[in-house]
Amino acid sequence: MIIRARTVVTMDGAPIENGAVAVLGNRIVEVGRFDDVNTRNAGNTVDLGEQLLLPGLINAHCHLDYTGLRGKIAPQKCFAEWIRAINAEKAKLSPDDYLASINEGFAEARKFGTTAVANLTAFPELISEVQPPIRTWWCAELIDIRAPERATELIHAAIESLRSARPEPVLSKVEGVAQWGLAPHALFTASRDLFRRCEQMAQRDNGLLTTHLAESREEMQMFRDASGPLYEFIKSIGRPINDCGNETPLGLFVGALGDRALPQWIVAHLNELAESDFELLETFNSRFHIVHCPRSHNYFGHSPFAFDRLRSLGFNVCLATDSLASNKTLSLFDEMRAFQNNFPRVSPDEIFQMVTVNPARALRSENALGQIRPGLGADLIAVPYSTSTDIFEQILAFDAPVSWEMVNGNT
Ligand SMILES: [Zn+2]
Repeated sequence: MIIRARTVVTMDGAPIENGAVAVLGNRIVEVGRFDDVNTRNAGNTVDLGEQLLLPGLINAHCHLDYTGLRGKIAPQKCFAEWIRAINAEKAKLSPDDYLASINEGFAEARKFGTTAVANLTAFPELISEVQPPIRTWWCAELIDIRAPERATELIHAAIESLRSARPEPVLSKVEGVAQWGLAPHALFTASRDLFRRCEQMAQRDNGLLTTHLAESREEMQMFRDASGPLYEFIKSIGRPINDCGNETPLGLFVGALGDRALPQWIVAHLNELAESDFELLETFNSRFHIVHCPRSHNYFGHSPFAFDRLRSLGFNVCLATDSLASNKTLSLFDEMRAFQNNFPRVSPDEIFQMVTVNPARALRSENALGQIRPGLGADLIAVPYSTSTDIFEQILAFDAPVSWEMVNGNT
């Protein structure tokens, strides 16, 4: 099949005017000017006309479990209150509600041009009942705050559920990359032992590792100062507090990491950093990728995200939606605009990389996803060509369901 569009935005060199992409099965086999691609490849031509053909977008951090909580929780005065509020909402939901929520989330993500997602789920046991319409790294979100002695059992049960993911791994797997992950929830809900065991399991079976870190001021207060509402809340439910009062969340996290040969982490947030943390970050920039969730960030009113400093330290920064318990849509176009609003000096081109090339790297799939080039998976989307302004400005301004999409060679 040959797909022609007014402009092909490859993210692998300059956009190609009157471009085309040849797809064979689920792979891209050629990219170039339409006339050249058409001469060398047989097959049907799908002419998208006045459209921009883009790599499918990649959401490196979301929780589709909570799609049904859109608009249900108003911003709270503190993070601990928000945790109480979401727990109260969750108590009202049945497994069927969660399944509906997850399916609704997948449909919405795809509608807005997302073709791959790292989805943290608190209910790995539901995975076998879902048929994702996009590439999915199911990541089991693990919490052992009430039973730290059962960390190993918890991981094994989660891995068992992750193995039941559909479609069959042979269909969903990006070449050579295991498509699952473990997500110890956060330092305040997952024990150090759980973090270490997740690292070992992920290394053994080539899975992803992801967590929430340094998200709120209260998390900083809890660990560094042994005080504040999150500290009091966590203490009240019986979590040991002997790791509080010394180090920042980042300091504790890097202290818990195993040796350098272990897999990299995808770290969501890093909103609250002390000056000493930046010295640590210089040493650890190869150990993790960072995911920033601009609209969730705005919803909570966290301290300004230290994008410039993190970028200058060499971190791979991705944009993601987080859950609809703290966001309004699962559109990465909306997320790019929110980021641009907060960081107007960052170029639209660089912002687009943060939902394509950068998350592909975080998912260890830079040779499979995130660009349009021969050999990569055929994950493509199209948006209307609107004006003669900069191509990347046009992409960021796009605010509707995408007009065409292909995931793994299927439209
Ligand atoms: Zn999250």
